[in-house]
Amino acid sequence: MASDPVTIWDRRHKTQAGPSSNAWHLVHSSHNAAYFTRFNSFCVHVPLASGGTGGYIADMTNAAQTDAAIAAAAADAAPMPILVAPHAVLRRKTRTVRPEDMADIRRILPSMFSAMYEAPGIGLAAPQVGLGLRFALVDLGEPEAREPIIMINPEILAETETLAAREEGCLSLPNQYAEVTRPEQVRVQWRTVDGEVMEREVDGLLATCMQHEIDHLEGILFVDHLSTLRRNMILRRLAKEQKQKRS
Ligand SMILES: [Zn+2]
Repeated sequence: MASDPVTIWDRRHKTQAGPSSNAWHLVHSSHNAAYFTRFNSFCVHVPLASGGTGGYIADMTNAAQTDAAIAAAAADAAPMPILVAPHAVLRRKTRTVRPEDMADIRRILPSMFSAMYEAPGIGLAAPQVGLGLRFALVDLGEPEAREPIIMINPEILAETETLAAREEGCLSLPNQYAEVTRPEQVRVQWRTVDGEVMEREVDGLLATCMQHEIDHLEGILFVDHLSTLRRNMILRRLAKEQKQKRS
């Protein structure tokens, strides 16, 4: 049974120790009846396997095992629509991904990569495509040399006191940019699609991007790091532009 990804996942999940234990305990303390509701009920906009594929779900019969192979399948997958602020789903905290969610997530990942690459963007979190689950994608690579990372249940374990300011944008706030100050380096832990634990210390653009995406999983947008005045200005401008776009 040791090679069964689900078993590995559960075993590691229960044996988290050291500095990371608080983070994982916090996640577990939110368990309740709703937590165990099936994945499909968390899909706000996207019909999954039980309700037709809606054209978004690639054929993953021969399930690709690596992030790179899953991302490459984006070429044959229809991009999922990306929700734009102030959509309510973007403000909801996501729930932890369970091993039994992974079959659905694997099916939908190529269409999420497709949406991110088409935009184009360097990160996309599940709530941005209407899914209330704790996972996100990042890829800082070039189109000819992709560097996809799929983060399932990512957590920031540690961060530096040193801060760095970097201009940020967001596919859910199209054409809006602002300088955001965040910890310069962070230690991030997540699980791969196979349930393996990954832990990396990241800095630079990748640190910004991962923090931005993990924020999304808490219902936080980059404008929340700005002053109220600045945030409202950007959100008003976005609303105006979206209205013009529709008319
Ligand atoms: Zn974003």
